[in-house]
Amino acid sequence: MLLDQHYLFAPGPTPIPDRVKAAMNQPMIAHRSQEFPKLLEDVSTRLMPVFGSENPVTVLAGSGTSALEAAAANVIEANDHIVVIVAGAFGDRFAAICETFGANVHRLNIEWGNTCKPKQLEEFLQSIPNDIKAVFATYCETSTAILNPIKDLGAVVKRLTNALYIVDGVSCIGAVPVDMKGWNIDILVAGSQKALMLPPGLAFVAISDTAREVIRNCKAQRFYLDLNRYLASYETEKSTPFTPAVSLIYGAQEVCNMFEEEGFENVIKRHQLLKTMTREGLKAIEIPLLTSDEDASPTVTAVRTLDAPSKQMKKMLKDKFAITVGGGQKKLKGEIFRIGHMGYCTPFDIIKVLGSIEMTLKFLQGTNVLGKAVKRAEEVWMDHV
Ligand SMILES: *Cc1c(COP(=O)(O)O)cnc(C)c1O
Repeated sequence: MLLDQHYLFAPGPTPIPDRVKAAMNQPMIAHRSQEFPKLLEDVSTRLMPVFGSENPVTVLAGSGTSALEAAAANVIEANDHIVVIVAGAFGDRFAAICETFGANVHRLNIEWGNTCKPKQLEEFLQSIPNDIKAVFATYCETSTAILNPIKDLGAVVKRLTNALYIVDGVSCIGAVPVDMKGWNIDILVAGSQKALMLPPGLAFVAISDTAREVIRNCKAQRFYLDLNRYLASYETEKSTPFTPAVSLIYGAQEVCNMFEEEGFENVIKRHQLLKTMTREGLKAIEIPLLTSDEDASPTVTAVRTLDAPSKQMKKMLKDKFAITVGGGQKKLKGEIFRIGHMGYCTPFDIIKVLGSIEMTLKFLQGTNVLGKAVKRAEEVWMDHV
C-alpha cells in the first residue's frame, strides 16, 4: 500500500479538507492589526447558524476541554448545586471539572449506551431540594456514540428550574441541528477537531443573554478562561484578550465557506446518511452495535467487541488497511470500538470502512461476508440520491 494513505475514522481528530489546509497557510497577521478584527468577526458571526446562537460565537485557543472548563469556571461559585447528566466519559469529565471548582455535583447516571430520557431528568430534578445553578448535558456522548435529546431535556430544565442549561456539543456541532433559544440552551461549547473539520486547537463557546449576566456576576477566580475578557474584547475591538490561534481561525473561515456552499441543512442530512449507511451495513453482516437506532449519534457509531477475534479488529484495521478507528473509553475499554463519521466524511468513506471490516472478519474468523455490508450501504445511499 502507499505509505501516505491513512484513513482517519476516529471520533476526533478528523480529516482536514485540502482547501482548509490551504487557508491555514495564509501569511500570518498580527492580531492587533486591522485585518484580524475582520477575520474574527466574520468567523464568529458565520458560525452563529451552526451553533443555533443569537450571539456571535466566542473563540478560544485550546482543546474542547478548555471550553468545558470555561463554562464551569465562569458560572460556578463554591458550594453551588450543579446537575450533570453522566451518560459516558465526557459527562463524567464535566462532573469532575465542576467538582474541581467546588460545586456540589449531583450526577444523574445513565446506563452507558443509552440516552437520558426527559422523564429521568424530571424525576431527578424533583428529587433535589436545593436551588440548582446549572444543568449540564452532553449532546453527542462520544464515548458511547449516543445523541441525547437536548431539546426535550432543555424543556424539562426550563419547566422545573431556574438553572442555566449547559451543553457539550464538541463531537456533533457542525453536523446536527441546534437552536439555543428554542431549546433553552444557555451555553453551548464545541471544539475544532470533530465535526468542524479543523485541526485540534480551537474551542468555541456560544453564550445566551441570560448566561452572559450570570458570567458577568460570577465571583469565582479565573484569568485566561475569564469569558468576560473575551466578550469585552470582542465588543470593543472585535479581537481576543490573548493571542488567538490565527491560522486555525483562517481555517474556520474556510469551513464556513464550505458549510454555506453545501448548505447547512444538507450537511445535517449527509451525516444522517453516513449514520444509516454505517449502521445498516454493519447490521447486514451481524456486527453487534452498542446503541439503538433512535439513540445513535449521526457522527459516531460504536461497535461491540464481544469475542476474542472481534477484539482484534481495531488493530487489524490499522495494520492491514491503515484505517484508524477509536477504542473504548473507561469502562468500555476493550468492549467496543468507535467509527467516527463526522466532518469531512462522504458516503464513499463509509464504503471504504465497511469493506475493510468485511475483509477483517474474513481474516479473523473466516466468515465470508465480502460485499454484504457494502451492498447494503450502497442500497441505503441509492435511496438518498
Ligand atoms: C472530544 C470531546 C471533548 C473535548 O476533548 P478535547 O480532547 O479537550 O478536545 C469534550 N466533549 C466531548 C463530547 C468530546 O467528544
